[in-house]
Amino acid sequence: MFDNSSNPWDRRKFLGAVLGTSTAVFGLVAPEKVLAARVINAVQTTRQPDYTRYVFKVNGPLDYKTFSLDNPPRVVVDLTQTQMSQIEIPPAPAGSVVSDLRVGIHNGYDLRLVFDMKAAVKPRMLLLPPSDGQGYRFVVDLPHDKAATLVARDAADPDSKPRIQTQQTFRDIVIAIDPGHGGKDPGAIGRRGTKEKHIALDIGRRLQAMVAATPGLKPVMTRDSDRYIHLRGRTAIARRAKADLFVSVHSDAFRVTSARGASVFCLSQGGATSEAARWMANRENEADFVGGASIADHDQDVASVLLDLSQTKTLENSLDFGHRVLSQIGDVTDLHSKRVQQAGFVVLKSPDIPSILVESAFISNPTEEARLRTAAYQNEIARSILAGVNTYYAERAPEGTRYAML
Ligand SMILES: [Zn+2]
Repeated sequence: MFDNSSNPWDRRKFLGAVLGTSTAVFGLVAPEKVLAARVINAVQTTRQPDYTRYVFKVNGPLDYKTFSLDNPPRVVVDLTQTQMSQIEIPPAPAGSVVSDLRVGIHNGYDLRLVFDMKAAVKPRMLLLPPSDGQGYRFVVDLPHDKAATLVARDAADPDSKPRIQTQQTFRDIVIAIDPGHGGKDPGAIGRRGTKEKHIALDIGRRLQAMVAATPGLKPVMTRDSDRYIHLRGRTAIARRAKADLFVSVHSDAFRVTSARGASVFCLSQGGATSEAARWMANRENEADFVGGASIADHDQDVASVLLDLSQTKTLENSLDFGHRVLSQIGDVTDLHSKRVQQAGFVVLKSPDIPSILVESAFISNPTEEARLRTAAYQNEIARSILAGVNTYYAERAPEGTRYAML
């Protein structure tokens, strides 16, 4: 069918069938499946004498774009509308021209492969149609123009092994995702009967998948089913998971159905002050580590200053994070308020975890209620939050995280 000598109409008919299938997939299948049309199920790599080969097994034909970057040399390949299942990416073979392969989401739907190279090379790429009982395979060959030098350098570098081991101990940045409401608490309910708790969970799950697919980030859900968790329980889950950021997802209601647009909230100063008082009053409890220091180990004044410093920094970071998410959301939908708003929401009160609450739209507005139910809008909101996370950490990835090394 892919033989160039065959009738071109065969190929066109085949592509038409493929497109037809994709359209059907978008219309019918569960939300998780809508995120991408293609899935990479396995990655293999081998070092041949003249090149290093990567083989990506994929569940159908795919489109790709590629380009190279210098300083340090990298080969970038974007696979259109593709995602990767939860699989191990094998380390680059010893003596290879590749030092590492990183994988992330690009433009929300595309899978970006970044080959970190030891030398600039001209890659070769090929999509193999099914044969020999195997499905589609996307093959990337990276030639070893300087193979001999690379082998020699690897062998002569006594640090190369310990360095690889150290890298594996770098931690992931943990993003706590908090779908609002749940279980006996439906949240706001739209005219058509849409419940906020379901929308929040849908968006939360989409964000979870996107965060999981981003190298160096790890999602933690406060709830991943339709169950009730009280507000303090949500911050406790984030704290136990040592979350670096906390995002609560909601969809507003207002008594006037014309209220519209998305908004982002951070904790208010008043909320922070009352929380500080609460922490100082309860500082025997085991969860009183703030900014790496135990409040209980210090006398009242020192503890109070530590807490205050931590809260001030956290609030500053929350506002910065909130601005970034808000400006991303502003690119895809109307904003209810162009500024990050502040209020005393209990879920935002962690003194040392920058926290925001995203009101994705007004479920009480019939037009927005309809949009909130669509996979497209839910993905836009999730993507905006992820983009906010990425720009936030582009400037301050914590030391000791894998994200900082990427
Ligand atoms: Zn809510």
